[in-house]
Amino acid sequence: MNAFTGFAFDNSYARDLEGFYVPWTGAKVPAPTLLRLNRPLAVELGLDADALEGEAGAAIFSGAESPEGATPLAMAYAGHQFGGFSPQLGDGRALLIGEVIDRNGHRRDIHLKGSGRTPFSRGGDGKAVLGPVLREYLIGEAMYALGIPTTRALAAVTTGEAVERDGYQPGAVLARVAASHLRVGTFQFFAARGETDKVRQLADYAIARHYPDIADRDDRYIELLRRVRDAQAALVAKWVGVGFVHGVMNTDNMTISGETIDYGPCAFIDSYDPKAVFSSIDQLGRYAYGNQPSIAQWNLARFAETLLELINPADTDDAIRQATNEINAFPGHYQSAWLDVMRAKLGLARELPDDINLANDLHTAMEGQNVDFTKLFRAMSGVARGNAAPAQALFDDPAGFDEWRGRYDLRLAQEEIGSTARAAAMDRANPLYIPRNHKVEEALQAALQNDMAPFDRLLAVLSDPFSEQDGCGDYAEPAPADFGRYKTFCGT
Ligand code: AMP
Ligand code: MG
Repeated sequence: MNAFTGFAFDNSYARDLEGFYVPWTGAKVPAPTLLRLNRPLAVELGLDADALEGEAGAAIFSGAESPEGATPLAMAYAGHQFGGFSPQLGDGRALLIGEVIDRNGHRRDIHLKGSGRTPFSRGGDGKAVLGPVLREYLIGEAMYALGIPTTRALAAVTTGEAVERDGYQPGAVLARVAASHLRVGTFQFFAARGETDKVRQLADYAIARHYPDIADRDDRYIELLRRVRDAQAALVAKWVGVGFVHGVMNTDNMTISGETIDYGPCAFIDSYDPKAVFSSIDQLGRYAYGNQPSIAQWNLARFAETLLELINPADTDDAIRQATNEINAFPGHYQSAWLDVMRAKLGLARELPDDINLANDLHTAMEGQNVDFTKLFRAMSGVARGNAAPAQALFDDPAGFDEWRGRYDLRLAQEEIGSTARAAAMDRANPLYIPRNHKVEEALQAALQNDMAPFDRLLAVLSDPFSEQDGCGDYAEPAPADFGRYKTFCGT
């Protein structure tokens, strides 16, 4: 059915990677209802957004009906979760329904989360609930608008079921779109079983899909490691630049494409704090804000381990040497990606050797000062124009910041670009609006009471995060004191 909805599937994963998944279909649910459709994204995918509104979209995006040409399947993957290896995770409540080529010629996965049990469900019920589904919708769209590589929400559907979590919650399914769902954990699944031919097949598929320019190189597997390393370094630098804490950087939640995936207990910092942790299950702070670069490196080392047999089949010591060199180079690549982010935020077009100290020392000046990270950077365009008062006012005691400003002024004097153009560029690098934790909670709580207005309003504000929007001043503010310490829970 539903040929008219416009899905022109071309399912390379199903076709090329037999043995890497289990063909499967979604569960029937009592009352699938389309709650939200991301119309601009649907159009970008070549879909007929009008045809998908209402029942057709509800049937397809709940998983109850397969559109023509879909080959729904549950992907196999493993993963290190909080440092411990699980040899079998997989799509326990998700399905890849197929791939389409979007209007820009990019291959995109269409995937459902919460579509029922699969052979990978272990003890789980295969379901998702409304709050986490809308959360992933909102944060993914916010990240997209911030210019950060991410999976995106295509639709949210309610199922009409009551799903047991802490009490009963409304069941829901998220339809999401990704450059692919290849994860570090996908490689780990086959490497852990000693299935080197499958790891090679997977690596060749990943290269063809994400890094096709290296497909003919003899050293393509070590180059794949480099590419994924660099994509992850750039991604995490962007997270850090907007104060994002992913919260559950397990290797099954790290993509080969370099997109952010699996928004669970994620959050944004208000005041700058490298130790910031929000997830209730991250008791040791493994995935704290400031730990994210070193965790990315740790995850990449796990990825490298899966590739050793491919890097040099004849000489494992040599393969280890090569891979170790690439992993050891991560901090340098990360630092340069972070500096790119910081130079844009600080309005520095030239690259000078001392910039790294300038950027680091601003962060040191923020520590312990209850400075709102987002507001401070947004105020930097004012600082660069000689109006430092709004930035200063964010500090409990601005003495350290004032000292830093002296150096910043000297540094700006070495720029060629005019201050008006610089300020405009800075305002395009420093968002006014991020998904403030209390606003996200407010939107989700209202949605649970069938009031989608706060969700829609927040989504609209976050879709244009760099421009000041009338009457939206409160969306730019940190949580009020009575919001307390923010705690997030896993998105199950
Ligand atoms: P996540 O925390 O979403 O990254 O998922 C980690 C693993 O747990 C994946 O293999 C999921 O498929 C699985 N999982 C999470 N929630 C459920 C659920 N409700 N039912 C079955 N499997 C689940
Ligand atoms: Mg996951």
